Amino acid sequence: MLAPRPLHPLARTPAEWSERLASLGERGFRAQQVFRWLHARGVLDPALMSDLPASLRQKLADDGLGPTAAVAELRRSLDRTRKLLVKMNDGVTVESVLIPSVSGPGKPGELLDADAAADEDDEEAEAEGPAEPSSKIRVTQCISTQVGCAMGCVFCASGVAGLKRHLGPEEIVGQVLLGKSLLDEGEVLRNVVLMGMGEPLHNYEATARALRLLTHPQGIGLSSRRVTVSTSGLVPEIARLGQDFRGQIGLAISLHATDDETRSRLMPINRKYPLDELLQALRDYPLPPRRRITIEYTLVSGRNDSIEEARRLASLLHKLRVKINLIPMNPIDASSLGPPDWDRVYAFQNELIARGYSCFIRRQRGDDVAAACGQLALRGAAPKVRVARD
Ligand code: SAH
Ligand code: SF4
Repeated sequence: MLAPRPLHPLARTPAEWSERLASLGERGFRAQQVFRWLHARGVLDPALMSDLPASLRQKLADDGLGPTAAVAELRRSLDRTRKLLVKMNDGVTVESVLIPSVSGPGKPGELLDADAAADEDDEEAEAEGPAEPSSKIRVTQCISTQVGCAMGCVFCASGVAGLKRHLGPEEIVGQVLLGKSLLDEGEVLRNVVLMGMGEPLHNYEATARALRLLTHPQGIGLSSRRVTVSTSGLVPEIARLGQDFRGQIGLAISLHATDDETRSRLMPINRKYPLDELLQALRDYPLPPRRRITIEYTLVSGRNDSIEEARRLASLLHKLRVKINLIPMNPIDASSLGPPDWDRVYAFQNELIARGYSCFIRRQRGDDVAAACGQLALRGAAPKVRVARD
């Protein structure tokens, strides 16, 4: 089920294309040309690569080049959030969400879903890089890295469904190419967050390759600071990600609890990598200057939402450069757990702000199309567990 698959042509770097094309008797400059067709223009069908000779187009087709993912269903929410059901070539489906930034009437301190991972740092970013035309609507795309998830978090639809299979790098990148092709007029893809279905660091090799491709300047060319990996806390892979990308990739940690007992109950991975090891991994992460780690904290009524926990969270994160995103739990079919009342959410937030933290509440986007976090359930999959509120 999880055996490694041969490298798909879409997953090749320009250097690997050079090698492959040389072995097919092609000249060196073709590699860049092909890479640009695929990753910069999003054209995956060799027949459409109009400036390549017919013989090369045929070789590319024989090499297995072609679409890796297709949109099986597209649902557009009233707030212009778009949820895509993406079908891979073997028929499995994952979900991906396009979330346009809006200067909407959110309450103070609230942030838009998934923008939260990157956009509040815009002032710093703009000081560092060229500004985009202000008329453009910036879009964040949330993508999946696995079909289902093996981590089994009790509040998460993907976790309850279990892992069906890893995605290949070409399927991870393929979601972004599809997403780009579906942007509305005036929109630009600005952030990609690996917060859809699956645990990206459980599928490290494919994720790392996808990150390299997404940020390649001759391809989609996303800035690495605008690509965020969200993890439930796989400690060795956090270190590896930090090392492999010199801390440049955005890191979001799903913390969700302040003591091991509560965390293990919500997130079984905590039994393997308890809080003190996870926090040490965050201290060791080679975070560039002026950047922060995002701490995600899903508030589950009666489980992790008390003021004492807000205080404990503040002291656990002491001296770490972080921003905290609170996510009131989205109810899922397989569980009777749910979000706290709003006054409790605000009280939790206020406690953290009073202790000097940047703390935002992630406003749900697209919940009329079930595009919100944790609702990316596997279609037709029977839940393995049912969690009853005791
Ligand atoms: N596996 C990774 C990334 C995907 S989950 C991770 O766990 O970080 C993305 C975020 O959505 C995580 O912070 C996760 O805890 C949160 N999430 C999952 N289910 C949720 C739900 N039902 N309500 C609110 N947040 C949820
Ligand atoms: Fe997997 Fe993340 Fe869901 Fe946990 S929250 S089950 S790690 S997708």
